[in-house]
Amino acid sequence: MGSAGSWDPAQVVTPMAATAAPPPIRIRKKLVKRAAKDRSQTLRRAFQLVFLALNVWVGIEFYVFVRYYETGGRSAYAVRPPGVEGWLPIASLMNLKVLLLSGSVPALHPAGMFLLIAFLAASWLFRKGFCGWLCPAGTVSEYLWRLGRLTFGRNFHLPRAADIALRGVKYILLGLFVYAVGSMPVAAIRAFLLGPYGVVDDVKMLNFFRFLGLTGCIVTAILVIASVFVQNFWCRYLCPYGALMGLAALASPLRIRRDPGLCIDCAKCAKACPSALPVSRLIAIRSAECTGCLECVAVCPAAGALCLSAPRARRVPAWAVAAGIAGLFLGVYGYARLSGHWHTNLPSSTYFDLIPHANEFTHL
Ligand code: SF4
Ligand code: SF4
Repeated sequence: MGSAGSWDPAQVVTPMAATAAPPPIRIRKKLVKRAAKDRSQTLRRAFQLVFLALNVWVGIEFYVFVRYYETGGRSAYAVRPPGVEGWLPIASLMNLKVLLLSGSVPALHPAGMFLLIAFLAASWLFRKGFCGWLCPAGTVSEYLWRLGRLTFGRNFHLPRAADIALRGVKYILLGLFVYAVGSMPVAAIRAFLLGPYGVVDDVKMLNFFRFLGLTGCIVTAILVIASVFVQNFWCRYLCPYGALMGLAALASPLRIRRDPGLCIDCAKCAKACPSALPVSRLIAIRSAECTGCLECVAVCPAAGALCLSAPRARRVPAWAVAAGIAGLFLGVYGYARLSGHWHTNLPSSTYFDLIPHANEFTHL
C-alpha cells in the first residue's frame, strides 16, 4: 500500500503525455463482395424441419403402439418405431459401453445406440452438427428465440458471470450420467436393460410427457419463456446430450475460420452467432459451443473472409456439410437395418404384461 508521500513514476504527467495523443487511424478495408448468394440456412432449416417432422411421426406412432397394449389390444395397432430410442440417451450410452467392452450388439434398444453413434460422428466431423442441423429440441429452441426477437426486437444475454456458471450445468449433468454408466459393470447394465424397467424405459419416458403434472408444467413453461428471451437457453445451459456433442466437436477437424486480410471488421458474424461467440475477433472458432450452424458465414458480406474449413484451409461448403450429415445418419441407419440390429424383438405378450404397469417399475 503506498503512503501519502510515496512517488509513483507512472503517475507523473510529462509535457509529452499531457499533449492529447492523436486518435488511432482506422484503415477502412475495401469490401470485396461475395458473388454467390448463401443458401446454407435454407438447407439447414430444411434438415431441421424434416428431422422434427420425423420425430413427431415417431412420437405419434409410438403413442398408438403404447395405447394398443394399454387397452389390452382394443385400440388401433402400430409397430413400435425403433427411432423412439433416440430419446433414451442413458440407455443408449449403456448399450454403447456394452458394445465397446463386449464386442456384441445389445439385443434391447440397439437403435438408440446406433443413433447415438451417428450423432456423435456428425458432431465430431461437422462441429456439433447434430445440435445445429438435426436436434428437434434445438429446432424448437431456435424458433422460440426467433419468436422472441420478432416480438421484442432483440434477444437478451445473461450477465457474463451467470452465463459462464450456467454453461457448466450441462457438463455437470453429463458428468453425473457418465459416472452412473461408467461405474456399472457390463453384467449389471445387461441385467438392468433386460429387466422390466429397461424394457419399458421408452414407455416411461412417454408417460413422463403425457402426465406431466403441475411441477413438470411449471418447469416446461419456465424453459419455454426463458428460450423466448435467451438464445438456445436449453441447449446452452442445460442439455447434457449437447454437452456430449460439444466434447466430440472439440476434436473436429473442421473450424469456422476468419481471414483478417479479407475481413472488413463489420462484426455481423458475431452479432448473428446464436452461441454468442466473438467470431469477428477470432481467427478460428474452437469452442464447444459452436454448433456448425453457419449463420455467421451466411451473413458475412466479404468474399472469402469467413468459412467452414478443413485442415490446410480447404473451404467446406454447406452442401458438403448437409451431404455428410445425411450420409452418416442414413449410413448408420442402413447398416443397423441390414445387419438386423435396428429393431428390438420382444414378443407381444411381454408388452401386454409390462406396458400397462410401466409407471410401477422403478430402478434401484
Ligand atoms: S460460430 Fe458460426 S457456425 Fe459456430 S455457432 Fe456461431 S454462427 Fe454458428
Ligand atoms: S461478418 Fe465477420 S468475418 Fe465477415 S467481414 Fe464482417 S467481421 Fe469480418
